[in-house]
Amino acid sequence: MSVPTCPECSGWAYSGSQENYDHIHEVKTLSPAKRTDGHIVRRGYAVGMSGPAIDQLWVFFDYIEPALVFGRAGRMSIAEISGYGVYEAAQELRFDRRLRRDVHTLHVLDGDSLDRHTDEAVAFTRWVAGCDPKHSHFQPGHQGGHRS
Ligand SMILES: [Zn+2]
Repeated sequence: MSVPTCPECSGWAYSGSQENYDHIHEVKTLSPAKRTDGHIVRRGYAVGMSGPAIDQLWVFFDYIEPALVFGRAGRMSIAEISGYGVYEAAQELRFDRRLRRDVHTLHVLDGDSLDRHTDEAVAFTRWVAGCDPKHSHFQPGHQGGHRS
């Protein structure tokens, strides 16, 4: 799915493309969420991780709690993940008339990473509370899982 001619895909060490994104861009501001015919923007959080044999892998989450847990748990695979970061992000799907297909872009906010802060254990506790064996999605709950 690579689109090698995009200048924004080469402007940052972690930008580019991967199987599930045509573009991965670092941005100064994030577009607000929207949903129209052929153009969807979701706001949430992106986890980027890499290791000796994994160039870079980005995964998007609607909520910060599973993003923090995913990053932290991934890093515990000592031999395979040597670094990670959690950032505010937007996932965009836009129908491109010229290409005649959907183009998937991950916009990662150029800001401080959100992982490994002193209150991370509080978010982990919210994540546990939001796990329900009957649902595959995080259930933001009683203690206020937040969402952008
Ligand atoms: Zn690009």
